[in-house]
Amino acid sequence: MKTIEQLKDLSGKKVLVRCDFNVPLKEGKIRDDNRIVQALPTIKYLLDKGAKVILMSHLGKVDFKDPVQTEEDKKKNNLSPVAVRLAELLKMPVSFSNDTKGPGLKYWADSLQSGHALLVQNTRYEKGETKNDPALSAEWASLADIFVMDAFGSAHRAHSSTYGIPEEMKKYGKPVAIGFLVAKEIENLRRCVDIKPENRPYVAVLGGFKVSDKIKVIESLLKKCDKILIGGAMAYTFAKAQGLSIGTSPFEADQLDYAKRCLESAKGKILLPIDCVIADGFENWTKVVVTADSNIPEGFEGMDIGPKTAELYTKELLKAKTIFWNGPMGVFEKAEFTKGTIAICEAVAKLGKKAFTVCGGGDSAAAVAQFGFMDKFSHVSTGGGASLEMIENDGHLPGIDVIEG
Ligand code: ADP
Ligand code: MG
Repeated sequence: MKTIEQLKDLSGKKVLVRCDFNVPLKEGKIRDDNRIVQALPTIKYLLDKGAKVILMSHLGKVDFKDPVQTEEDKKKNNLSPVAVRLAELLKMPVSFSNDTKGPGLKYWADSLQSGHALLVQNTRYEKGETKNDPALSAEWASLADIFVMDAFGSAHRAHSSTYGIPEEMKKYGKPVAIGFLVAKEIENLRRCVDIKPENRPYVAVLGGFKVSDKIKVIESLLKKCDKILIGGAMAYTFAKAQGLSIGTSPFEADQLDYAKRCLESAKGKILLPIDCVIADGFENWTKVVVTADSNIPEGFEGMDIGPKTAELYTKELLKAKTIFWNGPMGVFEKAEFTKGTIAICEAVAKLGKKAFTVCGGGDSAAAVAQFGFMDKFSHVSTGGGASLEMIENDGHLPGIDVIEG
């Protein structure tokens, strides 16, 4: 696949870069600029080579069904604070086009100087963006000479800015390539897809909220892994499918059959919690206790894996050569229920360089950052949904395949 290092004669060329600047905003202030920081290597490289860099990204969602809502969403998801932060990080001015199409945008793109950057307002201000509208893709593609895909977190979406633009540019023989961030993500996540015998045992840790969100990932990991350790709320659907009592814990009735079949076909590959941290209410609990076994009594709900489970999972993880982790083991947002998730982080930290360890998933990555384990993993993906779909689809995503193909 073509990487930006293979692009020739960048000086004076207009390079359109799709970034993932979908940062958390609160009242117009950026709460976490990690996604902007992660995009810097590609942007700096292009600027250093004298390119004219046009940056595009989406931010949040814009609803087009109701005009009042549309205006509210646009206001809430205004990308301009990113231009300010980017200018600070690059230590140079960054232009901003509030126009997302038409002569205004073209004017900004055409007046760009070599070695300078222009950020375009939120791509989702255009209704056609998420529909991969051909006319919109063609207009955006006409703005530049080269396209670089560096928005890993959006690579699972076949939208105008992630798919339509490169497809259109290729028609006219314009070069398309992946940026440094996407290259890094692909390299690391594909190591969790194709496992060489010397990199086994391959252990997956799966948690989080819903089984139904993760069915495809479970299916894929069942084929690839030697062990799957399950925690989080999804464990209760598996527990109920086995006939255990789960109290008032959340479970998905329509996934019970699936969970049962899954456990049968996995033949011991799947491990489930052997004890749980439970509370007598999700919000206003008065009691937090640890169960003696995998049963949860009436009036209580499971909030985290218990200490015996943490110990069992740690033992499995310490034998692994490759680990893929998605989904927190408990309600890690609340101090009482962080231990299970921290135990996974600690096992990974203990392994150090002895194993290749990857964390993917929005909340999981947030937990790793919150507990201070970012540098203990071989790789923490910047893509929530994208990292999961990468595993599900054997290393393929539409926004990457369009560059590769
Ligand atoms: P990711 O974003 O990493 O893919 P998910 O979105 O699937 O992860 O799940 C994260 C959410 O799961 C967190 O908000 C966490 O509070 C919740 N969760 C984990 N364990 C439980 C539990 N036992 N009960 C309720 N919610 C849980
Ligand atoms: Mg999530």
